[in-house]
Amino acid sequence: MSNLNNPGFETLSIHAGAAPDPTTGARAPPIFQTTAYVFDDADHAASLFNLEVFGNLYSRLTNPTTSVLEERVATLEGGRTGLAVASGHAAQMIAFHTFMETGDEFVASNRLYGGSITQFAHAFKKMSWKVHFADPVDPENIRKAITPKVRAIFIESLANPGGVVCDLETIAAIANEAGIPLIVDNTLATPYLCKPIDWGADIVIHSATKFLGGHGNSMGGVIVDSGKFDWSANDNYPSLSQPNDAYHGITFHETFGDLAFGMAARTLSLRDLGPSISPFNSFLIMTGIETLALRMERHCANAQTLAEHLKDHPKVTWVSYAGLKDDPFHELAQKYLPKGAGSVFTVGVKGGYDAGVTVVENVNMFSHLANIGDTRSLIIHPSSTTHRQLTEEQQIAAGAGPDVVRLSIGIESVDDIIADLDQALGMT
Ligand SMILES: *Cc1c(COP(=O)(O)O)cnc(C)c1O
Repeated sequence: MSNLNNPGFETLSIHAGAAPDPTTGARAPPIFQTTAYVFDDADHAASLFNLEVFGNLYSRLTNPTTSVLEERVATLEGGRTGLAVASGHAAQMIAFHTFMETGDEFVASNRLYGGSITQFAHAFKKMSWKVHFADPVDPENIRKAITPKVRAIFIESLANPGGVVCDLETIAAIANEAGIPLIVDNTLATPYLCKPIDWGADIVIHSATKFLGGHGNSMGGVIVDSGKFDWSANDNYPSLSQPNDAYHGITFHETFGDLAFGMAARTLSLRDLGPSISPFNSFLIMTGIETLALRMERHCANAQTLAEHLKDHPKVTWVSYAGLKDDPFHELAQKYLPKGAGSVFTVGVKGGYDAGVTVVENVNMFSHLANIGDTRSLIIHPSSTTHRQLTEEQQIAAGAGPDVVRLSIGIESVDDIIADLDQALGMT
């Protein structure tokens, strides 16, 4: 039997990080729409600036509304610290900036959200960080890609859009052996379906824009650190293991212990690069998280029903959904995503490019747009939109060939979801 000393996921989704406001009694976390915070006196101001006491100073660094979101996501992921930022991409940039030096390298899955591939290959290159892409379907590819300058491994637990489920435990062991942190983008799975830290991941990243917020109304990102990685085992992570000029020679790992990564990410990388989240977006995202378990349950159930319907559909050639018994990732999904295989998947439509365009033009309830993780059902034809700059060969390699349609299944009545796709496919 559960008790309040060991609250369940649903309880934590609603209560973690939040208490009634002590001055007003407000039960919902208030939106603290303020830029700065008054100091008690000059000594208090000095100790805040020296990182000698914790407290609010300026909303680029901390904000009481955002703190609730940070603690809530860190708790749900089973991590030590949480840091919320302006978007999922900002979370990736801040996470890497915290420990990477110029000339450092990292290994990333080649089955990532397209925007992450572009960020790593182009924007990060301008900061002199080099990415080696490897196919995580065989974890040995990741091991082989590790060079002496590689400082981290980055994967998605459940990959967007190919429906790839990564073998987290095996990849965590490879990272551990190499003495480098494993960073997992858990956007598609959410902590309701999978908790990467339980499988050995060191850092978890979210685009909170997607299922955490869940309503397609606000951008946000969160970085959760497990606090378990030893940044001082060697000299490969000087920003954390050596005295820092930005704070009178503080050594972050020695001073802050398992809070070191979270402190450095906030007080060095977020402070100096600046992509802070608006307190209003923090409020919307934390409100979304209150219903995360209910929504994910229905997202997964609807996706499963629809995938089974489409599997034998006369207008569909294939369905790539790990919830289907004969899917190549079904076994891994049963291990890592026992409560459901998420709600984003791809299907191949008969008739190639033209058929794909026809479907997205004919849907009524589905929205044709570039997003996932909304309460609403969403659809996109990658080869005519997100992947249109690529050659057909490159599109096929990226899982975005001319016949591919990507779906993000919402939480509407499943009969309406099926009926809308059936009519768009020309079946009614
Ligand atoms: C959307 C997305 C991102 C980027 O997040 P933004 O909030 O759009 O910056 C990163 N990873 C995955 C898996 C995503 O779906």
